[in-house]
Amino acid sequence: MLHKQSLNNSYRPTLNQINVLLILIAIFYTQMINANPASSSINYSKERFYYSSNIIIEVEHFKQAIKAFEWLDLIRLTETGMETFNAIEMSGHQLLIYHSPSALLSAGVTGAPLSQNLTNGIGESVYIKFYLDMEDYGSNCVLGESGSYIHYSALHNLMHELVHARHKMNGTWLYFDSEGQAIREENKFRIDWATYRSTSYSLRYDDPDDEAIIMSQNGHCAISNIPEQ
Ligand SMILES: [Zn+2]
Repeated sequence: MLHKQSLNNSYRPTLNQINVLLILIAIFYTQMINANPASSSINYSKERFYYSSNIIIEVEHFKQAIKAFEWLDLIRLTETGMETFNAIEMSGHQLLIYHSPSALLSAGVTGAPLSQNLTNGIGESVYIKFYLDMEDYGSNCVLGESGSYIHYSALHNLMHELVHARHKMNGTWLYFDSEGQAIREENKFRIDWATYRSTSYSLRYDDPDDEAIIMSQNGHCAISNIPEQ
């Protein structure tokens, strides 16, 4: 008898309540997907941090955020880096830098909605897909002016993507010379960074093709055995 009574008193949702619940779950999922348009899959363990008012870092673990913040701070120490950050921050658009293992092979990707705003001075919000687990010496080597492969450190690599981002966010992107534009400014940064550290530098060949980026062998490029920081 006692058993029957407790069963009768237990809460049983009506069909309407179940429908409302299903609708709420659907809205929640839709919002999760819309909140993260740059990512093709949902990962609830991702965390986001603001580096500045319009630069957001999305990571899978806190160590990645520390690395990203450190690299961005170091880039900002140079004149070219500071100029790039100022342009990004004044653009009125948002930059999302997010970790992706698939960015390891491509050495980073900078994307934006393909619209005329990328070239007409208005700009768009942009994302950078980057492999934030990389070592400081970088995961790739690039073709140097001398014809040999040279280091593409994490700083060079991230600065290169920031240049793409800067121009897409300000509508100054050179559609027909996107890589040339980024490499020329990456080269300025290479000089600035070497001057800052009183070291020598190698410049990157500014007319790249498909062979221009290769994976490094534990930080070693074809011409050198000393990892460059
Ligand atoms: Zn590029």
